Amino acid sequence: MNELAAATAESLDVEAVRAQFPILARTVNGRPLLFLDSAASSQKPRRVVEELRRFYYEDYANIHRGVYELSQRASQLHDQARRAVQRFLGARDWREIVFVRSTTEAINLVAWSFLRPRLRPGDEILVTEMEHHANIVPWQIVAGERDARVVVVPVTDAGELDLDALRRMLGPRTRLLAVTWVSNVLGTVNPVAEIAALARARGVPVLVDAAQAAPHLPVDVAALGCDFLAFSAHKMYGPTGVGVLWARLEHLEAMPPWQGGGDMIDRVSFAGTTFADPPFRFEAGTPDIAGIVALREAVAFVEALGRARIAAYEAALVARLEARLGEIPGVRVLGRPARRASAVAFTVDGVHHQDLGTMLDLEGVCIRTGHHCAMPLHARFGLAGSARASVAVYNTREEIERFADILARTIALLRG
Ligand code: PLP
Repeated sequence: MNELAAATAESLDVEAVRAQFPILARTVNGRPLLFLDSAASSQKPRRVVEELRRFYYEDYANIHRGVYELSQRASQLHDQARRAVQRFLGARDWREIVFVRSTTEAINLVAWSFLRPRLRPGDEILVTEMEHHANIVPWQIVAGERDARVVVVPVTDAGELDLDALRRMLGPRTRLLAVTWVSNVLGTVNPVAEIAALARARGVPVLVDAAQAAPHLPVDVAALGCDFLAFSAHKMYGPTGVGVLWARLEHLEAMPPWQGGGDMIDRVSFAGTTFADPPFRFEAGTPDIAGIVALREAVAFVEALGRARIAAYEAALVARLEARLGEIPGVRVLGRPARRASAVAFTVDGVHHQDLGTMLDLEGVCIRTGHHCAMPLHARFGLAGSARASVAVYNTREEIERFADILARTIALLRG
């Protein structure tokens, strides 16, 4: 970490941050909650929960339908959320922001509406060995329908993408490259701008899965140079049930709808239907209006802390976590990437990760155990599963030390 980053890391008042998350004050099994599973879903600050409540109590109505004041007010708040996300991502145009249910739904939308119509037998979709199932299975489904192939960029022993292999694998049949920005298992931060430049130089569109990046790193789609980017509100201090797809407007304009219903049409008759312009064409039916309105508060929460400051603060936590894990006998940390964000996965010699998770729960510690929806990555390391600790901006240095102490004690106990 350079000096500037160190200074900004120290300037984050973590106790003031924690005070915004009431759940962090509770106990679990009689112990103070030690929450290290934010990669699965983050906790929610008061301003997000209060906005949900306020919206339902004061401003709730369906959007884009009523001429009455309340519906117009709800529609306005929904529009403002879209513009907040547009600014947050550095997007050129609000029409590039499509509200969906989750990262999963965003990727499925691109698979069905963008890729499927242009996929021919023998075509290839490039993904990587470190993808979450959400960035594998939708491509497999459309590839299966079109006799196309999913081709996999390997991961090195260090837990990084093999960029030489990626260069070689970008071929004349590659129709799309789908890559995660941050691995939800290893925490590896991939050089997605460099990867996007490589792919686009060969005319290959790029989808970036930013589910694990949006809560932790500054995001600027113009600087990234990708074609599509997806993230979920619930991993970024926002509500469940809301996700975002950003896409270049020229792609959205050329894409057919993938779900039909209310709100996505221009005119409907039994002779035929015409569709609305993006983003509405991709937003059939009533969305999670309150969730979208409250997402604006999650964005404001992150922006108020500052994304560079969050990244610097968390980088120091992750470095300490990795160092402490490395000191515990029998603990093997997966990968050693040059840059990690949030997540560190590990195994313990002679101890099953599920047993470890159960024992840690008795100490008030929440970590994730299992395959973390990344079975192929675990297979790559010869594993069925692992334990994973992941941090967010509300975790403290003291929690990392406490976690390492509890873990060491628990492992000693389990190994008898
Ligand atoms: N991509 C990555 C890298 C993830 O970590 C996750 C969730 O863990 C997803 C996609 C899927 O997110 P969601 O379940 O919110 O759709």
